[in-house]
Amino acid sequence: MNREAMVIRLRARTEPWDIVVIGGGATGAGIAVDAASRGYAVLLLEREDFGKGTSSRSTKLVHGGVRYLEQGNVSLVMEALKERGMLLENAPHLVHDLPFVVPNYSWWETPFYGIGLKIYDLLAGKYGFGRSRILSLQETLERLPTIRQDGLRGGVIYHDGQFDDARLLIALMMTAAEQGATVLNYAPVLELTRDADGFINGVLGEDRETGFRFTAEARVVINATGIFADQVRRLAEPAAAPMLAPSQGIHLVFEKSFLRGNTAIMVPHTSDGRVLFAIPWHNHTLVGTTDTPIAGPSYEPMAFDEEIEFVLETAAQYLSRPPRREDILSVFVGIRPLVKAEGAASGKTSTLSRDHTIHIDSTGLLTIVGGKWTTYRHMAEDAVNQAATLGRLADAPCITRNLRIHGYLAPEINPQQDTDQRDRDPLGVYGTDASSIRVLANLHPEFAAQLDPDLPIIGAEIVFAAREEMARTLEDALARRTRALFLNARAAAHMAPAAAKLLARELGCDSAWADNQVETFLALAAQYNGSLKQSAIA
Ligand SMILES: Cc1cc2nc3c(=O)[nH]c(=O)nc-3n(C[C@H](O)[C@H](O)[C@H](O)COP(=O)(O)OP(=O)(O)OC[C@H]3O[C@@H](n4cnc5c(N)ncnc54)[C@H](O)[C@@H]3O)c2cc1C
Repeated sequence: MNREAMVIRLRARTEPWDIVVIGGGATGAGIAVDAASRGYAVLLLEREDFGKGTSSRSTKLVHGGVRYLEQGNVSLVMEALKERGMLLENAPHLVHDLPFVVPNYSWWETPFYGIGLKIYDLLAGKYGFGRSRILSLQETLERLPTIRQDGLRGGVIYHDGQFDDARLLIALMMTAAEQGATVLNYAPVLELTRDADGFINGVLGEDRETGFRFTAEARVVINATGIFADQVRRLAEPAAAPMLAPSQGIHLVFEKSFLRGNTAIMVPHTSDGRVLFAIPWHNHTLVGTTDTPIAGPSYEPMAFDEEIEFVLETAAQYLSRPPRREDILSVFVGIRPLVKAEGAASGKTSTLSRDHTIHIDSTGLLTIVGGKWTTYRHMAEDAVNQAATLGRLADAPCITRNLRIHGYLAPEINPQQDTDQRDRDPLGVYGTDASSIRVLANLHPEFAAQLDPDLPIIGAEIVFAAREEMARTLEDALARRTRALFLNARAAAHMAPAAAKLLARELGCDSAWADNQVETFLALAAQYNGSLKQSAIA
């Protein structure tokens, strides 16, 4: 995946595209893979970097959603469980089975959650991961050696999926490119163009790196811009009523020692009636999340002080060593593109549906919003089916159910389902690309060094990100190609100068560029550094 080559492909196209996708998050990437693999001519334009929006900020679960089962949304849970199974088959380098324990402190919790989780197993059918079962106190302690023991009676274990969201996103973009799609980051859509009847027939975009403005004609334009979808809809219909009710969720990342072992904790009912997870992720402990309604979309939402306190307090009820503010290595925040409930009283976003919605407005703009990372493939299939009808495209079946995602490596060769192996081999998430990174490190010893003692990220990953994964800035390399910023903001800041130097050399930029990148990145890293007092921005 090479940006210069993508720009050449864009400029060379004289025919209209079958589909132009606006937005390079999970939804847009899924659509690009689906449409290109059906043989359609596809252009995807992303305003910032791929995954800069919500899709790098999830809780990293590929799940049916136990909570949605409790809300009675059986069809969403079944669909998500099926997608979970397919994703594990198609991307075993990026998705793995993770055991979760619901710890029980009251007598009624064991039978209650035991039965609920059996239903969860049943709904998964042939796509099931491991079976749920009730654990004795002893077994619970073996699974969760750092759980608070006071009053603990036992637990219920069940299985779900876990992934690295930004890495899956990059792998999807590479898959789309391999299938023939043209995908471009740092290319905002500024306007929509119309035919003589007022129907949308393309977009006006800009290559942010050169300022080159272009018109891309299209049979169908798909708006897959997540929390920004209402803004793009207003380009088509300035008076369009908002569809979205944005809500933010925060995550705190700590050292692995807070949750030793390889089992996650699922708290089914927090004091505000939500679910909280403490999860082992890339050798760290990730805790989240919250559900706080907010006024509107933004790229770098800040955690409210109260949200941080809430997560710390709730985690302290379940962990024998209560995490403190100064233990936070990174705080990252995402905004959910939730679809407003018709006529529902505003306020609580946690009860809004996680189903996706497809809306075609009177100008022919197709908007897809909502859903979850887990269901991105199904959302894409649905959107492309509708786009094909709308744009009168040649019939072509969806083939993504069995389409392997870039980097696929048979689990026997790359045993990412084995936790110890995952911890031993941090390059495992690259799948087949890991060998290219190792070759780089072997040929150039200066690329082999770890960039910070606290994170197993080597220079070769930065070089590979620039050469093959369209990383254009230091943030792209440290937040989404590697996950440094999301795991440990201080370590990410520490590795910034060395990483910027490598990147500048690859991209043909000078030292002033590198210095500027470091300065911008350090300001961002300070925001992810949870020990800083973050004043609430109401
Ligand atoms: C806190 C939190 C936790 C979550 N946890 C999970 C989980 O564990 N599992 C799960 O399955 N789901 C989870 N989700 C949901 C999941 O992350 C989202 O549903 C998904 O990432 C949305 O993807 P998207 O592509 O629709 O939006 P985004 O990822 O936001 O992508 C939209 C893109 O459009 C681009 N864009 C906007 N305007 C323009 C323009 N004019 N031109 C070009 N590009 C433009 C933006 O830059 C952005 O990159 C979570 C969500 C949140 C907020």
